[in-house]
Parts: sequence; structure tokens; C-alpha cells
Amino acid sequence: MTSFRKRTIRDVDPSGKKVFVRVDFNVPLENGKVADDTRIRAALPTIKSLTERGAAVALCSHLGRPKGVDPGHSLAPVAARLGELLGKKIALLSDCIGPQVQAAIGRLRRGDVVLLENVRFHPEEEKNDPAFAKELAKGFDLYVNDAFGAAHRAHASTAAIATILPAYAGLLMEKELTALGSILSEPKRPFVAIIGGAKVSSKIDVLRSLIPKVDTLAVGGGMANTFLLATGRKVGLSLVEEDRAGEAARIIEQVEGDRKRILLPVDVLAAPSVDEEGAQRAVTYDVDDVPDGMAIVDIGPRTVAQYRDAIREARTVFWNGPVGVFEIDAFANGTRQIAQFMANNPGATTVVGGGESVQAVTEAGLADRMSHVSTGGGASLEFLEGKTLPGVEAIPDA
Ligand code: ADP
Ligand code: MG
Repeated sequence: MTSFRKRTIRDVDPSGKKVFVRVDFNVPLENGKVADDTRIRAALPTIKSLTERGAAVALCSHLGRPKGVDPGHSLAPVAARLGELLGKKIALLSDCIGPQVQAAIGRLRRGDVVLLENVRFHPEEEKNDPAFAKELAKGFDLYVNDAFGAAHRAHASTAAIATILPAYAGLLMEKELTALGSILSEPKRPFVAIIGGAKVSSKIDVLRSLIPKVDTLAVGGGMANTFLLATGRKVGLSLVEEDRAGEAARIIEQVEGDRKRILLPVDVLAAPSVDEEGAQRAVTYDVDDVPDGMAIVDIGPRTVAQYRDAIREARTVFWNGPVGVFEIDAFANGTRQIAQFMANNPGATTVVGGGESVQAVTEAGLADRMSHVSTGGGASLEFLEGKTLPGVEAIPDA
């Protein structure tokens, strides 16, 4: 497994240096504006630390999945928002490589910040092309990777470039590695992991990796349906992966064989359809009584109470994956409650990682009350699966 302790920007004097900083500004846009600036804010400590110490900074990011140059995937909205957050105008360069960019980099002075245009306008980026990485590195003295959310990809701006310039982790990268690393290395006990989300198939690897570490594993969301099926329950119209029931059964055996506790839903909210109309006719059932014509959409109140007790006793809580179809208000109760229970246990280390689970915590206004809300999405899951992240691997150990 990759070491969590990496050389960081605190280990270097960046004064007078030109620093290429890979950030993850892959943010959601709405009507040409940044809809959620969490990832931009998360990069501010690194940007400020470098500029306050006399560096000139060029920020590099991808945005979406453009096929070649595409103005619809320009980082212009990000430049605007970053400028508001930093209280100064941030120039967006027209590209991330080429003579004009190099000239602009050459003109940078201490404390300056510029944003390079979407690195994925160049297909060489995703090919981890060494010649392209060399172009990216031109004119820079140091490379900093603060893009934890892109660290599971071996791309030119996350991997190859780190072999060309002296490479350091940014402060967000360090924070992510420390928080997620503490889950894997020495969680304070009891350690409760709550794993939900849509499908077992996408969470098998993280379940297998976490089982040896946890005291209690709580399973919710769509994936719990496959576990219920594996324990002989009928799940009606629910989202379920019948071909994964055997795997779910083996996970239950593994947890119990390790003398750990697994919490599966004991009651559920079910609806005739997974939409607003179905919400009008949603009913709570014991897991033994889910009718044929209903789909499980959330955990029920007795299950919520079990999770509450487990979270209350815990000294480490990791949560990934909503426990219901939280996008529909009537099915969001279980997910919101979990966020609240975690927020109500300030003595515990509370870590949230994932796409939708992070969204749920943010929407509930509880992100500030967690020890750590990962910006990583897929990268945080791969990290917890014990996989090597190329963007982390590329930075020398401390
Ligand atoms: P994360 O992004 O946090 O890792 P996932 O991507 O695995 O989570 O899953 C999120 C999705 O799971 C949500 O869109 C949610 O609607 C869905 N989901 C949760 N519970 C259920 C359920 N009972 N039935 C169907 N979908 C569910
Ligand atoms: Mg997701």
C-alpha cells in the first residue's frame, strides 16, 4: 500500500519559484456559473500558503470530459469564482501549453496566481503522455499536486509531470491522506463503517478492505437489498443485484467469522414507484413483509435507531453512500439522520467519502461538523479499497 506520509509544500521554500499546481476544479456548473465551490475553497490553503511565501502559482485542472477543445468546458466560470474567493481578478490563460502560455508564465511575479485552461482539451493528458507532461512543465520550478479527487488517474498532469519537476503534496492532498489514512491504519475504537449507495457491485472492494478494520459494519441503501435477498427476504420491485447475492452472503459470513457486527435494515420504507407519486403511498414495513409491488427506498425508523446507537458509541465513523433515494425528499430521512447523528458525536473522528453521500452532508449543512468530508469521490473509495493511487504514488515520501 502507498505510504500516507508524503513530502508536502511545507517541506520546501517556494520563494521566487514558479509553481505548477494541479488542483481538482472539476466542479458542477449551472447556467455558466459554479454551482458548488467546495473543491475551489478546498484548494485555497495551498494557493495562499504558496503565494504568501513568495511563489508565483499557475493552477491546472480538468473540467468534465471534453472531446478536444470545447468552450462549453472552459474553466472561465471557475476563474471568476476563484477571483471572488481570493479577492482579486484571476486571469484564465487560453491554454495549458504553448508559446503564449509560456510567455505568460515568464511574466509571473511573486504572489501572482493564474489559471490554465482545461487540461483535458488535450487528449495526451489522459494518455499520461510524457512529451505532453514536458510541455506542461516548461517554465516551472516545482510541481504541487493538490488534486486528491484526480489522484486515482495516471494522467500527464497527475503522474508523468511529477517525474519531471520536484513534486510535493498540497495541503488538501495531505489532509485527505491523513484523514483517510487514519481510517485504514489506526482507527479509534469502536469503529463503525456505514456503507450505502446504489449497488453492491461498486462497493464490494471497499467492504472487503474495511471489514478487517471495523467493529461494526452497517449496510443501507439500494445495496442492502441484495444483502436482504441473501438472507432470504423478498425485496419486491426494489433495486437489487441477484447475481451478487452470493457475494453478499460471503461478506456477512466474513464479518461474523471475524466476530464483528453487521447491521442490516430491520425495517424499510417502501413505495410503489421511486418518484414523487410513489412518495404519496410510501409505507414502512418489517424487512420480512415487503410486498411484491413495492420498492425499498429508505431505511425504516427502527433501523435508524440501531444506526444511531452504533454511531453514538463509536469513536470513529466512516460513511459512504446514502441509505435511501435521498434525491426525493420523502425518501431522504435515513440519510439525513445519519448525517445528523455523526454531527452529534463531536468526540468521534467522523469521515464522509463519496459523491452522493458528500452531497447529502453538504445539503444538510453539516459538512463543517464532520472531522473530514472528502473531496475525493472515486479517489477516496479507491484509497480505502487499499489501491495505489498513481497521483499519490508519484509524490516522494516524506
Ligand atoms: P456515493 O456516491 O456516495 O458513493 P453511490 O453512488 O454508491 O453513493 O449511490 C448513490 C445513489 O444510491 C443515490 O443516487 C441514491 O438514490 C441511490 N440509492 C440509495 N438507496 C437506494 C435504494 N433503496 N434504491 C435505489 N437507489 C438507492
Ligand atoms: Mg455516486
